[in-house]
Amino acid sequence: MSDRLTDNRFILIQTLRRWFDAHAELDSLGASSEKKIDWLRAVPFIALHISVLFVFLVGWSPVAVIVAVAMYALRMFAITAFYHRYFSHKAFRTSRVVQFIFAALGASAVQRGPLWWAAHHRLHHVHSDKPGDEHSPKQSGFLWSHMGWFLSRHNFKTRLDKIKDFARYPELRLLDRYDVLMPVLLAVAMFGLGELLNAYWSTLGTNGWQMLVWGFIVSTVVLYHITFTINSLAHGSGHRRFKTEDDSRNNFLLAILTFGEGWHNNHHFYPGSARQGFAWWEIDITYYGLRMMQLLGLIRDLRPVPDSVMEKRSKCVLNKSIKVPT
Ligand SMILES: [Zn+2]
Ligand SMILES: [Zn+2]
Repeated sequence: MSDRLTDNRFILIQTLRRWFDAHAELDSLGASSEKKIDWLRAVPFIALHISVLFVFLVGWSPVAVIVAVAMYALRMFAITAFYHRYFSHKAFRTSRVVQFIFAALGASAVQRGPLWWAAHHRLHHVHSDKPGDEHSPKQSGFLWSHMGWFLSRHNFKTRLDKIKDFARYPELRLLDRYDVLMPVLLAVAMFGLGELLNAYWSTLGTNGWQMLVWGFIVSTVVLYHITFTINSLAHGSGHRRFKTEDDSRNNFLLAILTFGEGWHNNHHFYPGSARQGFAWWEIDITYYGLRMMQLLGLIRDLRPVPDSVMEKRSKCVLNKSIKVPT
């Protein structure tokens, strides 16, 4: 009995430590295959959701909503362009400074550090919708694929063995280890911005608390669930252009909301390209942003979609249109 109490106390202390130091005693996490939510670890995630209700206390103002939308857009771009296309798939090249800046912006989205995110995503591509895919709706159901998997102890550990190419940069390891740092900095910056506007431009009708709620809390929670739809909805809802071995789909609405990630069937067919919309009408805002960054000299060597893939694309479209009259 006392042994169990000591064990429980140890787990409690470990979990609390990992709120602040994500790499603390990683080896003691083991490799439990249990698909269970670690509720203590999930407390900040749940608290952030409940905090959305503070909008009823702080009210709203046009400037607070504009900042919330801007913070959504900036961090969605950091997640899709860098966490996903760069760190996970190496779809282009960049300098160490730009790499760090966008890793830090991505970390402010409260979706853990770049190494954790990209290592797990690489595993997703290896096992897509098969046993071993940690967030497959086909394997574990919609809710688990949407937000259960990353709240489990099993998936907490950063799989450094899957991301050795980027884990060699100490600044990225630091961001990954103290993954709470950037979110706290952003929250403080939002509060400061609101207070500044209140002091020097009071006609805008905002203040620190209101900007914290809209610019950080509301924007982060919306960004969460739109990002998560790629793991949940985009593996089941939409159109399949390519007959991939998984259940990935192309979904126009998700592509708009996620800046291009909704062309998920394209992406699973050819994950290495910087572009995920393969046709001109497949809007891919992240790709347009990357092209702009290339023009500005910030990134280089964007990997294209090979001609062979583009040819298969038109054949698939053709096959589909032939099937209709028969
Ligand atoms: Zn996928
Ligand atoms: Zn991917």
